[in-house]
Amino acid sequence: MQRLANFIGGEFVAPHSDAYFDDVNPATEEVIAAIPDSDGHDVDDAVAAARAAFPAWSAAPAETRSRLLLKLADLIEANLEELARTESIDNGKSISLARRLDIPRAVANFRFFATAILHQSSEAHHTDRTALNYTLRHPLGVVGLISPWNLPLYLLSWKIAPAIASGNTCVAKPSELTPLTAYRLGELANEAGIPPGVLNIVHGYGAKAGRALTCHDDVAAISFTGGTVTGSAVAANAAPRFKKLSLELGGKNANVVFADADLDDAIATSIRSSFWNQGEICLCGSRIFVERSAYDTFVERFVAATKKLRIGDPLDDATDIGALNSEAHMRKVLGYIELAKEEGGTIAAGGKRVDRNGFFIEPTIVTGLSCDCRVLQEEIFGPVVTITPFDDEREAIAFANSTRYGLSASLWTRDLSRAHRVAAAIEAGTVWVNCWLLRDLRVPFGGMKESGVGREGGFESLNFFTEAKNVCVKL
Ligand code: NAP
Repeated sequence: MQRLANFIGGEFVAPHSDAYFDDVNPATEEVIAAIPDSDGHDVDDAVAAARAAFPAWSAAPAETRSRLLLKLADLIEANLEELARTESIDNGKSISLARRLDIPRAVANFRFFATAILHQSSEAHHTDRTALNYTLRHPLGVVGLISPWNLPLYLLSWKIAPAIASGNTCVAKPSELTPLTAYRLGELANEAGIPPGVLNIVHGYGAKAGRALTCHDDVAAISFTGGTVTGSAVAANAAPRFKKLSLELGGKNANVVFADADLDDAIATSIRSSFWNQGEICLCGSRIFVERSAYDTFVERFVAATKKLRIGDPLDDATDIGALNSEAHMRKVLGYIELAKEEGGTIAAGGKRVDRNGFFIEPTIVTGLSCDCRVLQEEIFGPVVTITPFDDEREAIAFANSTRYGLSASLWTRDLSRAHRVAAAIEAGTVWVNCWLLRDLRVPFGGMKESGVGREGGFESLNFFTEAKNVCVKL
C-alpha cells in the first residue's frame, strides 16, 4: 500500500506526527493509501519553504515562469491516462469523465495561466497634465490554497496555476479524501523543473492542517473552494489576520426549462447537469423547474433517460454513474432521500443504495415538493434532483432565486428576449442559456449570496493573487 508524504521544498517528507490515516477507494471500500495526518508544524515547514523560494521566483521573468508551467501542463497531459485512473480510484468517479473533464481541464488551467501572464498589462492615467498615475501589480508572497474532493486535480490546479504564474509561492491543502493526484502533481512539478519551495503540498485533515494554514501569519491570502459552512470557518480565521480571501462555496443551482425549449437538448443536457460525477459538481443543476405545459412530457422523458444510466465500476469505460466519494457522504445523501419522502415528495426514479460493495446510490428524481422544502433549500451534492412545475416567467425567476445560494443556473428557451431577461434576473454568478458547463477561462467565475465571495478566472485570478500599487508622478 502506498504511503503518501507531504511535498515541502521539493522533497517528499513524513509528517512531524508520524501519524497516518486511511485513504479508501469508495467503489471497493478497500484502503488504498496512508495519508499523512499533518499539523501546524508541517504547515510551518511548508510556509518556511515557500517564503525561502519567494524572492527568486517572484523576480524570475514571466517568460521563465510561463515556460515551467507549460512544461508541467505537458507532463500532466502525457500522464493523462494514469492520472484519470488514479482520480477514478480515489474519488469514485467514472474514468471516462476523469479522462474527458478533470485531467484535460487541469492541463488547460496550467496552459491558460502560463500564457495569460505574458499578456498582462497595467493601467496608466495622465491626470490633467499635472501627474502620471500608473498601476504596478506585485505578487502577494506565500498564499494558501484549499480545495475539495469532487474535482481534485482540476480544482487544485485552478488555484495553483494562477498563484504561481503570477509570482507567488504556495502551500496547497487538498481534500483529505482525495490526495492521490495532488501527490503525483508534486512529482510532476519536480520533473518540470519548478524550483523547490514554489509549490508545497500538505496533506491532512481540514480542521487541523487546513485550519493551521488559514491562521498562519506568513500566509498573505487564502483561496478556498469547499462547502459554505467550512467557508464561514475559513473566513472567521482569515479575516482578523487581514488575509486576502477568495471563497468558492456551495450551490443549489436552478435548471429552468420553458415550454418553447428544444426539449431533446434540454433533457440530454439536464441528464448530465443532474448526474455527472454522481451530482458531485458544485455547478450541477439540482433543482429542475419546468413550465407547466411541458412538465408531464419532461418528467416522463427525463425519468426514462435516467433509468438508462449505467451504474457500476468507475474503471469501466461504459460506466456513467460511479460511487459517491465516501461512506459519510453517501449516508448524508440517503438521509436527504428519506427527508424527501417525509416532506411529501414522490420518488419518480432511483431512491436507493445500490446492492453491491462501495458507496453507490441510484440516480434519484423527486417530484411533488415545493421550493420551501429542505430538500430544495439545502445542498445535497449527490445524484438527487427535484422537478417542480412553474406557471410563468415571474414564477420561474422567483423559484430560481428562492435559496440562499447563488452559484450558477441554466435556462432553456428559444425566446431570445426572455433568455436575456431571465438571465439578468437570476441571482447566480454564472447563467448558462441552452447549455451547461461550457467554460471560457477568461470569464469571471464565482458565486453570489452564500455561494461565495470574490471572483476567479482569467485576469480576475491574476488580480486576486497580486496586489495593485498606484504610483503618482508629478509632471
Ligand atoms: P469542505 O468539507 O468544505 O472541504 C473543503 C476543503 O476544506 C477540504 O480540503 C477540507 O479538508 C478543508 N477544510 C475543512 N475544514 C477546514 C477548516 N476548518 N479550515 C480550513 N480548511 C478546512 O468541502 P467538501 O465536502 O470537500 O467539498 C464539497 C463542497 O465544495 C460542496 O459544498 C461544493 O458545492 C463545494 N464546491 C464549490 C465549488 C465552487 O467553485 N464554488 C467547486 C467545487 C466544490 P478535509 O477534506 O480534510 O476536511
